[in-house]
Amino acid sequence: KPSIAILTSGGDAPGMNAAVRAAVRAGLNADVDVYGVRCGYQGLIDDDFIPMDAKSVSHIINQGGTTLLSARCEDFRTEAGRATAAENLKKRNIKGLVVIGGDGSFTGALKIAQEHGISVVGVPATIDNDIYGTDFTIGFDTAVNTVMEAVDKIDDTAESHNRLFFIEVMGRDAGFIALHAGMASGCSEILIPEEETDVKYLVSRLNDLHSRGKRSMIVMVAEGDQCGGVFKLARQTEDALKDMQVRVTVLGHLQRGGSPTCADRVLACRLGVAAVEKLLQGVGGVMVGTRNQQVVTTSLAEAIEKKSKPDEDMIRVAHTITY
Ligand code: ADP
Repeated sequence: KPSIAILTSGGDAPGMNAAVRAAVRAGLNADVDVYGVRCGYQGLIDDDFIPMDAKSVSHIINQGGTTLLSARCEDFRTEAGRATAAENLKKRNIKGLVVIGGDGSFTGALKIAQEHGISVVGVPATIDNDIYGTDFTIGFDTAVNTVMEAVDKIDDTAESHNRLFFIEVMGRDAGFIALHAGMASGCSEILIPEEETDVKYLVSRLNDLHSRGKRSMIVMVAEGDQCGGVFKLARQTEDALKDMQVRVTVLGHLQRGGSPTCADRVLACRLGVAAVEKLLQGVGGVMVGTRNQQVVTTSLAEAIEKKSKPDEDMIRVAHTITY
């Protein structure tokens, strides 16, 4: 009987559980033996496999994080580590592996595929949305909704106290979270790594808005090197701003958790099933994603190599309506 294995790897994202559940059930429905691997690639190397049945994924569709657990695994970066992982798969006659994670995980997946002939299908799950080959990654919608709700709350205080808030959100290399959540929560400015930040211009714009009667302002900043970080940016701005108190909030890891939204659950269900269907059709070395509501595949090599950037028009619209 053919067997497949499923693992979650890298940073956790809401909806990973929904993807695991979908992949397990798609496998069982096709009469395939399905294993879950705990702690990502670490579990492949440590031989931490669990036989899955339909019940083993009951009541997880609504849970954040990953019940299969995740890990950063240094050993998998070595050829010897990947050889051990491949042995553990082969001794169970597992020919297909579903890897739910981000581009680091896909890089490892491609290596074990090339070195040991394991068929691998990637499922993009990261809150950052920075993976080429899909309109959205699993977890992004939940994260932007979490950020939006947090900003709404901070805005109550900003408005009551005549304050300027800098809010740092996740996205070291990509501004998707800042752009979407910043637009949705009506921020005054959105600073993303895809664009240069001109602090002088920022200060003059904020002063201008303030002098035109705007009491509170929120500037959303994607983490990373935005002018040396959000605290430095706030200090620089505070010195130059007329009579406004400046505060900084770093949202941090609260953005990663939580029960997945409907959109993330549905995306995870579709991609989890698609991943197993591809494996059973004999297709490997690809990532499944969606483009214009349709499930599509992209080669893992392309998904890893190419960068996903926020749409130019999204950026233009965001700047048009920030005030
Ligand atoms: P993400 O998948 O969220 O981008 P990481 O970048 O931490 O997360 O990658 C997850 C895991 O994938 C790493 O801990 C490592 O085991 C494996 N991995 C990442 N990059 C490589 C690589 N270049 N070669 C082999 N394995 C890798």
